[in-house]
Amino acid sequence: TYADALPELVTDWRAEEPLDPGLVVLNEPLAASLGLDPAWLRGEEGVRFLLGAHVPDGARPVAQVYAGHQFGGYSPRLGDGRALLLGEITTEDGALRDLHLKGSGRTPYARGGDGRAVLGPMLREHVVSEAMHALGIPTTRSLAVVATGRPVVREDGTLPGAVLARVARSHLRVGTFQYARALDDPALLRRLAEQAIARHHPAAAQSDAPALALFEAVRNAQARLVAQWMGVGFVHGVLNTDNVTISGESIDYGPCAFLDAADPGAVFSSIDHQGRYAWGNQPAVTGWNLARLAESLLPLIAEDAGVDTDGAVELATASLSRFATSYAAAWHDVLRAKLGLPAGLSDDALAPLGEDLMALVRGGEGGPPVDHTGFFRDLSAAARGDVAPARDRVLDVAAFDEWVATWRALDPDADAMDRANPVHVPRNHLVEEALEAATAGDLDPLRRLLEAVTSPYEVGDVDARYREPAPASFGAYTTYC
Ligand code: AMP
Ligand code: MG
Ligand code: MG
Repeated sequence: TYADALPELVTDWRAEEPLDPGLVVLNEPLAASLGLDPAWLRGEEGVRFLLGAHVPDGARPVAQVYAGHQFGGYSPRLGDGRALLLGEITTEDGALRDLHLKGSGRTPYARGGDGRAVLGPMLREHVVSEAMHALGIPTTRSLAVVATGRPVVREDGTLPGAVLARVARSHLRVGTFQYARALDDPALLRRLAEQAIARHHPAAAQSDAPALALFEAVRNAQARLVAQWMGVGFVHGVLNTDNVTISGESIDYGPCAFLDAADPGAVFSSIDHQGRYAWGNQPAVTGWNLARLAESLLPLIAEDAGVDTDGAVELATASLSRFATSYAAAWHDVLRAKLGLPAGLSDDALAPLGEDLMALVRGGEGGPPVDHTGFFRDLSAAARGDVAPARDRVLDVAAFDEWVATWRALDPDADAMDRANPVHVPRNHLVEEALEAATAGDLDPLRRLLEAVTSPYEVGDVDARYREPAPASFGAYTTYC
């Protein structure tokens, strides 16, 4: 449907022939929900399908074009440089999903790139996206990772190549709207907005100002998404406008990481020198990215309201300025759940409690930041009366005791907290260990990590090392695109 509705935004393309393919990991429950037979996917034809080498009748693989601001600088033409939209699948419950390949060879948008992907980073995307899904955070999914048998040359040597088969509600990005806007074709921009509305935000179609209603729906979806990232200590790492979806799903797990220490300035990506995409900066930078979406929609906002460009700017600015309120509301929902407090507790009562707590977690009066995941999980024990584990993590125990007394007086629900504060997240040292082993041919650590992070809220019989922060010997962590 995307290729038919928006021919200006796609190029028909085929995947590179694999050399010696081998299935590394298959997401069987996801396959089943898409109506794909896992046994077939494991066979020769199925593996070729997962690489884009076997194209089913009626499918029309395309490379999608988009623009984007990368670290604040505008690139007028990015696009699927090493990716393909293989097609769309209607799920068992009638929803439409994109099946997309990453690492499937060069396309007309490859610029200087080789079109390939390395096994380790594709497995990282598999682990992190499945962890996010299990955490209840909107995300693209990973159907499979297939090794291509083709060596890929990178700065640090020659590494095994792979293709990731990714499933998403769509691959519409803020950057898709930027690209369409730059073509200066209002009819195309309108068609794109209609696609986005039909697919993700159908209520906007009922509005007499559909473009502004679309913007507001994306604004609120992104506010909710980023609030959830903040709650679990997720750092996306490369929040360029081409990596911000219209659906509100997290996308593109490159240099991402989960916090151990809850430092707002935490940056892991080797290329994020200014800390633009630091953990604590994600809400603000999402506001910036949404401003780029609003700008792209201006001609439609003007047309809908029957005003000139200045009038449209006024409408868009007013709507954008409500992102802060939208984010605060979303963050308070996350915080209420993490603290086991009733939905009825007002934002005014919650806000100071949240601020004091986050100051404690950040290290309060000059102390080191505490382990984000471990601390919040220990708070449910505190709700049950066992205050010591959480208390032992903070330096300013007097401030902590005062905080706990105020909070416990609100009667927090410890069981609900256990369902809101994960015990297993894909901690960096565990991810590295799993990817390193997988690259050397041992998939056991990857399987064990997947088991842990796909049961994020259950201690179960998972080895205790999956809930502990990195040992000091792991050192500072740097991620690469
Ligand atoms: P990302 O930083 O992963 O969001 O990618 C930014 C842009 O670079 C996208 O247009 C990608 O398709 C493109 N890209 C990244 N790696 C490669 C590669 N190895 N070959 C071709 N294009 C690439
Ligand atoms: Mg990207
Ligand atoms: Mg990427």
